[in-house]
Amino acid sequence: DPRLPKIASSIRVIPDFPKPGIMFQDITTLLLDTEAFKDTIDIFVERYKGKGISVVAGVEARGFIFGPPIALAIGAKFVPMRKPKKLPGKVFSEEYSLEYGTDKIEMHVGAVEPGERAIIIDDLIATGGTLSAAIRLLERVGVKIVECACVIELPELKGRDKLGETPLFILVTSD
Ligand code: 5GP
Repeated sequence: DPRLPKIASSIRVIPDFPKPGIMFQDITTLLLDTEAFKDTIDIFVERYKGKGISVVAGVEARGFIFGPPIALAIGAKFVPMRKPKKLPGKVFSEEYSLEYGTDKIEMHVGAVEPGERAIIIDDLIATGGTLSAAIRLLERVGVKIVECACVIELPELKGRDKLGETPLFILVTSD
């Protein structure tokens, strides 16, 4: 796809953020590039429109940037998957492991129905812990995950292997 190189070059890399040794992929510069941002959303919309997808689940925080325009364009609802204690209603939660310790993501009870078809959106997959927890959360409620979609994959971390049978679609890889 001829749009991909421009998307890749619009992402800024910030060394040693948030801690020494991390090369942080900063998508805020992609958002400043009106062509790259539109192309990013268009590619996802072209892929998922007309596929019977009724749920776009977005992972906090940057899944909240890419998810809603995709949801609107394909006629699906947007479901936020949030960090603990942010959602005001009754929630389902799923734990996942970090380098040190664990974290959780939560989703409102009643946001999705058994039998719905969903995609899960985030900006980046690293170890795959976050997306695998999002998959478990939706599958517990009987939702079929058609695919996970991210702008960036860090392939060295093999996060893809944590997603089991669920396919992963990405636009850009970074090593
Ligand atoms: P994982 O659970 O796959 O190890 O980490 C992915 C999560 O961490 C995503 O929600 C993503 O937003 C965030 N993340 C980790 N590293 C980066 C990075 O370099 N850039 C950005 N934008 N997000 C990151």
